[in-house]
Amino acid sequence: MAETESNKPVHFIRQIIAEDNQSGKFDGRVHTRFPPEPNGYLHIGHAKSIHLNYGMAVEHGGLFNMRFDDTNPSKEEQEYVDSILKDVKWVGADWGDRLYFASDYFEQMYAYAEQLIQKGKAYVCDLNAEQMREHRGTLTEPGRNSPFRDRSVEENLELFRRMRAGEFPDGSRTLRAKIDMASPNFNLRDPVLYRIIHAHHHRQGDKWCIYPMYDWAHGIEDSIERITHSLCTLEFENHRPLYDWFLDELGVYHPQQIEFSRLNLTYTVMSKRKLLELVQGGSVRGWDDPRMPTLSGLRRRGCTPEALRAFCEDVGVTKFDAIIDVGRLENAMRDDLNRRAPRRMAVLRPLKLIIENFPEGQVEMLDAVNNPEDPSLGSRQVPFSRELYIEQEDFMENPPKKFFRLAPGQEVRLRFAFFVKCTSVEKDAAGNITAVRCTYDPATRGGDAPDGRKVKATIHWVSAQHAVNAEVRLFDRLFNVAEPDRAPKDPKAAASFNYKQNINPNSLEILTTAKLEPALGSASEGERFQFERLGYFCVDSDARPGAPVFNRTVTLKDTWAKEQAKGG
Ligand code: ATP
Ligand code: MG
Repeated sequence: MAETESNKPVHFIRQIIAEDNQSGKFDGRVHTRFPPEPNGYLHIGHAKSIHLNYGMAVEHGGLFNMRFDDTNPSKEEQEYVDSILKDVKWVGADWGDRLYFASDYFEQMYAYAEQLIQKGKAYVCDLNAEQMREHRGTLTEPGRNSPFRDRSVEENLELFRRMRAGEFPDGSRTLRAKIDMASPNFNLRDPVLYRIIHAHHHRQGDKWCIYPMYDWAHGIEDSIERITHSLCTLEFENHRPLYDWFLDELGVYHPQQIEFSRLNLTYTVMSKRKLLELVQGGSVRGWDDPRMPTLSGLRRRGCTPEALRAFCEDVGVTKFDAIIDVGRLENAMRDDLNRRAPRRMAVLRPLKLIIENFPEGQVEMLDAVNNPEDPSLGSRQVPFSRELYIEQEDFMENPPKKFFRLAPGQEVRLRFAFFVKCTSVEKDAAGNITAVRCTYDPATRGGDAPDGRKVKATIHWVSAQHAVNAEVRLFDRLFNVAEPDRAPKDPKAAASFNYKQNINPNSLEILTTAKLEPALGSASEGERFQFERLGYFCVDSDARPGAPVFNRTVTLKDTWAKEQAKGG
């Protein structure tokens, strides 16, 4: 891919901005915005938009606005406003003192609407929704003019003012632009600018009972804020002629709308409506459930903003709809956490290991490196004693040939500690293994044998008497098919299809008997670690003093297989 001097790949939006700067189209200014509707929590698709808008502004020494597109009175809530601001900050965007609400422009929008009426370019229409649909026409047939299309300017002004004054019930009248009922572009067939909704607005209270439509409002918002490049997703491409028409007819400052493809991820649903359904239907534990693609969910899961931004860069910006492999997001998380997360030892499914020749009551402190990727993080002391916990899966009583971990007669290395050799197995009356017994070789302290003998595996452990008990939550993908939204081909199956059929019933596994090395006992909410051999984990917000809870952010790459092959 072509690279700019800043070493960022050239995408078409960078290119357009570069050209505009060259031609002086916006006097060399770059001013972008992120305009969410406060009707849900932000998801990773929004992060792509935030990263793009903020990134383009920063890269060109420009400005970035945070704007709530709160023109719809019924669905918006303060809870969403608060969460959105928190999430945008977390992604790393800084709007300075430019936090705006579209509803603050209602008066200006109204004045512009009267201006259009005065120009003979807008009219009050008495058709109801059903009748309007009948008049709209089809893909192959032009629409029909509304019988109210030729009202006089005076009558339109009077009716529109009475609409605002609250004289008419919901849905009884609209204000429409007078464009072209025969346009091949439906958006230009006399679109509605205002509808009557007697509803309370989260900022405007009961001041208004007419509310502007998105297409009418959005361009005006951009124009008022002197946005230069109004970046939006591809589904608005057909709306651009309308965006342009409104601003041209009003004769006001005119930003450039540019569309890019929205982010889609495999094994993920992204629409706010569906995410709300998952929350309300109890399929997940809330908007910030770590299995959700919401930014609050990703944060709780342990994803870093750096990983998120790296992912957005990696995905790039195109004009073509695509579905991105969710594995790329997981990789971005691994890459970032590998660099920064301190290593610790934790045992998720404990099995007691008793070292027969280690003196009872004795404790040895062993040096354990905190992060081999970052020597500046130093090392810590880990207690070692006669009774340890190891992972159940690191022991097999009757191992197959290629099993190099602990088994009767087999020797392995305990990470940062000693070689141990399994001597016997303890079982309960039912025949379940309750403990494994072994001997250790004191000469192998630190992990190497002076006689040069090798072991084929290294396993992790935690000293039983020092272990911190913890709950650990393991997550799998929330859906068990790559495209959970996609209806099956078979028409019968398609008719009854609902994406919820594809929910993975085993996406959450809660382990309540995990054992952690003591250093993890004091970790605080949001702290991230690599548990050796198990993945990256982060302290969940449910953690309480003395009762830690960890989320698995992402598993490790399968280094385990490689380690075995190399002989530990
Ligand atoms: P949804 O379809 O999930 O409800 P939306 O587009 O209605 O999303 P908005 O709050 O209007 O949500 O979105 C704010 C901004 O984020 C818009 O500019 C929108 O284009 C952008 N955006 C939303 N979803 C995505 C996505 N999946 N990829 C990239 N940008 C997105
Ligand atoms: Mg929207």
